[in-house]
Amino acid sequence: MDLRLTDEQQALRAEAAAFCAGVRPLLEADPEWRRQGMLSDGDSSAVNRALGDAGWIGMSWPPELGGRGLSRLDATLVEEVFGYHWLPLSSYLLSYKTIGAALERFAAPALVEQLLPPITRGELVFCQGFSERGAGTDLGSLTTRAVRQGDSFVVDGHKIWTSGAHLADWIYLAVRTDPDLPKHRGISVLVAPIDTPGIEVRSFATLGGGTLCEVFLDAVEIPAENLVGELNGGWAVLMHTLDFERITAEKLGGVAWLLDRLEERVGSSAQLARLRGELTAARLLSFRAADTLDRGLPGSATSAMAKLSGARLMQRAADAVVDLLGLGGLGEGADAALEGRAAGLYRGSVGSTIAGGTTEVQQLVIARRGLGLR
Ligand SMILES: Cc1cc2nc3c(=O)[nH]c(=O)nc-3n(C[C@H](O)[C@H](O)[C@H](O)COP(=O)(O)OP(=O)(O)OC[C@H]3O[C@@H](n4cnc5c(N)ncnc54)[C@H](O)[C@@H]3O)c2cc1C
Repeated sequence: MDLRLTDEQQALRAEAAAFCAGVRPLLEADPEWRRQGMLSDGDSSAVNRALGDAGWIGMSWPPELGGRGLSRLDATLVEEVFGYHWLPLSSYLLSYKTIGAALERFAAPALVEQLLPPITRGELVFCQGFSERGAGTDLGSLTTRAVRQGDSFVVDGHKIWTSGAHLADWIYLAVRTDPDLPKHRGISVLVAPIDTPGIEVRSFATLGGGTLCEVFLDAVEIPAENLVGELNGGWAVLMHTLDFERITAEKLGGVAWLLDRLEERVGSSAQLARLRGELTAARLLSFRAADTLDRGLPGSATSAMAKLSGARLMQRAADAVVDLLGLGGLGEGADAALEGRAAGLYRGSVGSTIAGGTTEVQQLVIARRGLGLR
């Protein structure tokens, strides 16, 4: 696979760039965006609704669900453009790219019809409740319990590091439905409105400069029809979700913007040339991962390669700002170097090697699933 795009793909990217220029005033009005840029996990709801109004959410879904019937690869090409224009995408990425992909594949038709159209309109935002204390990398050890009672599940537990729960309308939850089965086989996935009685969200500030949440679940009653996938078959749903989450072309778009601006300021340098080479490799890995999922092939290794290359590149690009501009390059505010965006990228680059699975986990997935090592 190479980087030559079809005329249709180029037109799609031009249309996306024009959309980004159109929403620029909306972004300029948001101080959180100035500070955190595309990594903002603040209130991106206005941008999300604008994305929905313009038909950009759910691009790879069929028209009857509000989509455009495009491929995941096309959507990935567009997400890169969004990243280059520094759009805050947290709602989009969680609701469509990541959770939406699993809902489309695994949810019952009634749930798909209920949830996907409002997601495409930017009216329904999801958060992802996977991680717990002691169940991050080792997600199979999660202990949040769901017990079937009549037509419902009753859920008790505690989730941490839940991005965007303070802004979300619904939560996508990994729960243990059978503690007697081997740990990866007793897990299921449920979805529920975040205002369901018994759900409490507490948010806190992070080193990355944004906000993360804890979610407490106390006797939360969730209708059985909100099960996504098979009962006790949740592991496959979770892995499918992560395959989509780990393609992070939007971050590569942000890196491309940063390298362009750095080159304008300092001219060409060996360090920048090397980073551009790494960017090309990371882009190819992202596009290949999206294409793999489009073809319905096993995607865990290719998505892990995309995630690993993108997260490392983001850290190296952030380092390059300091190498080439000194600490002054990390100044904040619209008048600072690089429009004040490098600091947000620098802070956020740490979390990007952890969220969606750490660097070590991506290496393990590549070794086991990609290379067949034991
Ligand atoms: C910005 C951000 C956003 C996040 N958003 C969400 C979200 O929306 N929803 C959600 O559910 N979670 C979210 N997370 C949580 C994230 O998925 C976990 O932090 C991640 O999976 C790591 O888990 P942990 O923090 O428990 O670390 P641990 O699993 O305790 O790992 C600690 C260290 O040990 C290493 N390690 C662990 N096991 C192994 C092993 N077997 N081999 C080699 N090294 C190993 C890890 O690589 C890591 O360096 C987010 C995290 C961040 C930073």
